[in-house]
Amino acid sequence: MSVDKEKYYEILAGLGDKAQLIAVSKTKPAEDIKELYNLGQRDFGENYVQELVDKQTTLPADIRWHFIGHLQSNKVKYIAPFVHLIHGVDSLRLLKEIDKQAARSGRVIACLLQVFIAREETKFGLDEQELAEVMKVFTHDGAEESGSGELKNVRVAGLMGMASFTEDPEKIRSEFRTLRSLFDKYFSSAAVPDTPSILSMGMSGDYKIAVEEGSNMVRIGSLLFGKRG
Ligand SMILES: *Cc1c(COP(=O)(O)O)cnc(C)c1O
Repeated sequence: MSVDKEKYYEILAGLGDKAQLIAVSKTKPAEDIKELYNLGQRDFGENYVQELVDKQTTLPADIRWHFIGHLQSNKVKYIAPFVHLIHGVDSLRLLKEIDKQAARSGRVIACLLQVFIAREETKFGLDEQELAEVMKVFTHDGAEESGSGELKNVRVAGLMGMASFTEDPEKIRSEFRTLRSLFDKYFSSAAVPDTPSILSMGMSGDYKIAVEEGSNMVRIGSLLFGKRG
């Protein structure tokens, strides 16, 4: 199975400068990644730590690797030296571990907080109250409360979410809208001046709706690489 080049260009043209494309290459061989790389793609997303580490060591060094899966605390150390963006952070505990491992690598790692928006499904993520609690640590007041000096090696760059797996576009749209409003609340340019924040939402089946609802980063796998076995 190889890459659908026409689809790649079609997606890029559709996204324009509204959203960045992360090519989700999980379970796909290095040759497929190389094919898309040769067309100019540099941002790739992976779900499994071991697979990501294996690919990172064999593929070109200028690839920006995104970890989009559920990350276990004890595995952070394997990706901390090189990972570009961790999309699925769903606890303060995990954020602290990323901070610790980032410090060991002398890096600041950008992270997105994953918010649970798919009401009928068990997907990972913070609910609104948990999100508020994590964000408190990062606001000026919160940092003082929790003792500043903490979490210097992580940067909470925005939010990530997955909509329900459904044929109902209005349900998907309303879930994305919920995420967008939380994003505006915590990451609007007024709240976070100077750094453009990231709203990572949208996959092969729903990325167009996601972009209409304000996504600026989409994670697309099967449309580019074909269905996963
Ligand atoms: C697999 C995966 C994707 C890509 O899914 P497709 O439907 O193949 O585009 C995007 N985001 C996450 C978190 C994933 O696990």
